Amino acid sequence: MDKQTLLSQLPAVNEVLRTKTAQRLLNELPRTIVTEAIRITLDKIRQRILKGDGAEVPSPEQVAQQAASVLWREVIPLMPRVINATGIIVHTGLGRSLLSQKAVQRLIEVATHPCALEVDEVTGERSFRDLRVEKLLRLLTGAEAATVVNNNAAAVLLILNTLAEGREVIVSRGELVEIGGSFRIPEILRKSGAILVEVGTTNKTRLSDYERAISERTALLLKVHQSNFRIIGFTEQVSLEDLVALGRKYNLPVVEDLGSGALADVSKAGIEKEPMVQESVKAGADLVSFSGDKLLGGPQAGIVVGRKDLISQLRRNPLYRAFRCDKLTFAALEATLLSYFDEEQAWDEIPTLQQIASSEREIKRRAQKVSRLLLGFGLPKEAISILPSTSQVGGGALPDQFLPTWCIVVKPKEGDNPDNFAKRLRLGNPSVFCRIQKDALWFDLRTVLPDELNELTECIAKAWVEMGGRTSL
Ligand SMILES: *Cc1c(COP(=O)(O)O)cnc(C)c1O
Repeated sequence: MDKQTLLSQLPAVNEVLRTKTAQRLLNELPRTIVTEAIRITLDKIRQRILKGDGAEVPSPEQVAQQAASVLWREVIPLMPRVINATGIIVHTGLGRSLLSQKAVQRLIEVATHPCALEVDEVTGERSFRDLRVEKLLRLLTGAEAATVVNNNAAAVLLILNTLAEGREVIVSRGELVEIGGSFRIPEILRKSGAILVEVGTTNKTRLSDYERAISERTALLLKVHQSNFRIIGFTEQVSLEDLVALGRKYNLPVVEDLGSGALADVSKAGIEKEPMVQESVKAGADLVSFSGDKLLGGPQAGIVVGRKDLISQLRRNPLYRAFRCDKLTFAALEATLLSYFDEEQAWDEIPTLQQIASSEREIKRRAQKVSRLLLGFGLPKEAISILPSTSQVGGGALPDQFLPTWCIVVKPKEGDNPDNFAKRLRLGNPSVFCRIQKDALWFDLRTVLPDELNELTECIAKAWVEMGGRTSL
């Protein structure tokens, strides 16, 4: 059949709307959305025919079925819920930290009721939204003052713009990092209006390098946590203590971008220690900034703690208003911080810390359960194994630290592409993200929540069937 004949036989939008599948969609969704999905689908089919790829004209019902998947992916692409089986605990692509139950309760309360966000309930007068959380942060970190903005990138930009616009900031060449998502220290510095003065070399920077670079144009000394990479071997960086001593000598503030920053000591979980905020404050840093949703395990936020006069200057910068957080962030952050007053409680209540601390035994138990359930679904024994592997903290923290873990490993049928299998899993509901290694799919049970094990199993079994595999489904 020639292209024109094929095109003329394509069903009209109205015909597709009358099919069973389209009627089912119309029961749940507005007509405009369903019609748009059908229009896009017919367009795609038309393009295929014109390219010579379409030998047959689909029936109205077939068009409707294609439109159903187009609808969720292209017309109303709501972000899917995900089961994180990657083993990366703080996964930026998957939304970083999960909130504690207490934080969620506070969120709901504050989202569904007014709250005294910017008024003082004692005087009834206008107040500042960060004063309450500041009290918590002062107690937890030992700092004089604190404030919170939208994320740590904004915090760093705000600090540099407030304290160093038009002046020089001294940074070690070993700390000129790119965090990902176009956050590069040299570029942020430039955007802030500050002038970067690089000192030392990639692997070695000494205190004398900083000292030689100090002039009347210097505004501050900046220390950046290397976060997502490590320089090993012949290396030297200046400690915060030494930098603080130098800053005092020349009356220059020392600012530390801690990156993740932790309030609890993660070395308790058997990995290397991540720098703690309290220790930077104690070492005398004038300002310390860190993320709310990395190791802290709270909502997205950029937290700054340090000297009272400097925090006041940050608050007076017009950018502060542009970077301010909403009441939901404050509510979740308050509740998260509250857990840290008793460190045991923090490890118990905060999901990010729970996942770091999960024991191998508990993780293996989850893997055994999933394996049992998969066999129950009729997946062949030889396709499934339970193997040891390693998880990562993620979020740019501790890149060289690996937590021992257990995975369910599913080997696709002979000749099947593991990438296709993984794609089907990602397109499921909920969507499942895992690792591909040695032509198999690895599901790390450390980052899968205990109440997701049944769902995970069903998703794997469903994708197995879609790949043409046999089960007892
Ligand atoms: C992650 C990170 C940032 C950015 O923090 P966000 O909260 O993601 O904006 C900045 N600096 C360092 C060193 C980081 O690790």
